[in-house]
Amino acid sequence: MTTPLVEIDGDEMTRVLWQMIKDELLLPFVELKTEYYDLGLPNRDATDDAVTVASAEAIKRLGVGVKCATITPNAQRMTEYSLKKLYKSPNATIRAALDGTVFRAPILTSRVAPSVRTWQKPIVIARHAYGDVYRGVEALVPENAKAELVVTSPQGTKAYPIADFDAPGVVMAMHNRDDSIASFARACFNYALDCGQDLWFSTKDTISKTYDGRFKDLFQEIFDAEYAEAFKQKGIEYFYTLIDDAVARVIRSSGGFIWACKNYDGDVMSDMVATAFGSLAMMTSVLVSPDGKYEYEAAHGTVTRHYYRFLKGEETSTNPVATIFAWSGALKKRGELDNLPELTAFGEKLEAATLLTLEQGVMTKDLASIASGEDVLAVNSQAFIRAIAERLTAAC
Ligand code: NAP
Ligand code: MG
Repeated sequence: MTTPLVEIDGDEMTRVLWQMIKDELLLPFVELKTEYYDLGLPNRDATDDAVTVASAEAIKRLGVGVKCATITPNAQRMTEYSLKKLYKSPNATIRAALDGTVFRAPILTSRVAPSVRTWQKPIVIARHAYGDVYRGVEALVPENAKAELVVTSPQGTKAYPIADFDAPGVVMAMHNRDDSIASFARACFNYALDCGQDLWFSTKDTISKTYDGRFKDLFQEIFDAEYAEAFKQKGIEYFYTLIDDAVARVIRSSGGFIWACKNYDGDVMSDMVATAFGSLAMMTSVLVSPDGKYEYEAAHGTVTRHYYRFLKGEETSTNPVATIFAWSGALKKRGELDNLPELTAFGEKLEAATLLTLEQGVMTKDLASIASGEDVLAVNSQAFIRAIAERLTAAC
């Protein structure tokens, strides 16, 4: 390796898997160069979350990062870890810094049939990673109150009435920016061209005529002006449809396309798509910024329930596949950017060895319970990772 990867460590069960993956699948095979950031909750607390900001800056500087799942603290975590304060989601901080689009693709194995019978090819979710409800401002409203949305600009101040409250309630405001929507659109169009797949985009513009309407219009303007010709040449299609219609079509489709979603839709739909393809633990996730920076991660969380069992010394069988693919994705990208074909080839071999292990029936419990075949062997995380290492050794 020439340029180091930005290595972002995390919490709980995924932190345990992180070390196993490095020890068994990376360090014996690659002269691994990383710049390490410990985003485990204790260190975020010790650094007043400065480490999170520093890791995002490092991705901007070095170009490629790989991130372990991290705890987004809530009130219960505040007590559990005796935190100084409730830190923001590290993913939100990093996404805001990179202003990117998150692409989530399921990892398929013939052992696990999708719950949706017609799905034959992966469905990639492209999730806008800025704004909306994730940057929302919300408040409890007392009774006998009036809420309005006030926008102040050099042109003056305008107030938009929201509601009169004769009873208590809640209110929320959210926002997005044209430049962020435009870079989301371009990231999706470029990704579709890269992988030669149709691009679908859906919002609820019938209800949200101005807000969602803005997304729809900007996508269309950018497509017509910059991408229509390239799509035609590649023989692929872009189309916009109402999210209700998109959901119905996705379920009836055979897969093999990219579904662009606003931030919240993408959050929820990617979990649905991943689960229907077999498991939350079989979904890769990459954040791509408009200026070509990449952050790879697993789409799932820190698997807290398994971690508490692990702490009690009980056997755990947490699926490391998405975390392995985060590493392989990052190594392949580093190889591509630094012109190191051997590094890219290693990333491919690591993925192939992982898939071969699954195809041969060796897997963690989550998959074993839904996999087909008489010879399926459910193993713990360590044994699964060692089984991959054996196949990787044979391939290298
Ligand atoms: P989660 O960690 O994704 O786990 C939810 C459940 O899904 C698990 O209890 C487990 O089900 C199953 N699961 C997820 N990943 C698995 C794997 N690799 N192998 C096997 N089963 C897996 O979500 P959560 O419990 O809602 O959140 C836990 C913590 O993760 C929270 O503190 C949250 O803030 C954080 N989080 C972080 C990220 C991120 O950093 N990207 C994303 C989401 C959540 P069973 O228990 O039934 O086996
Ligand atoms: Mg989600």
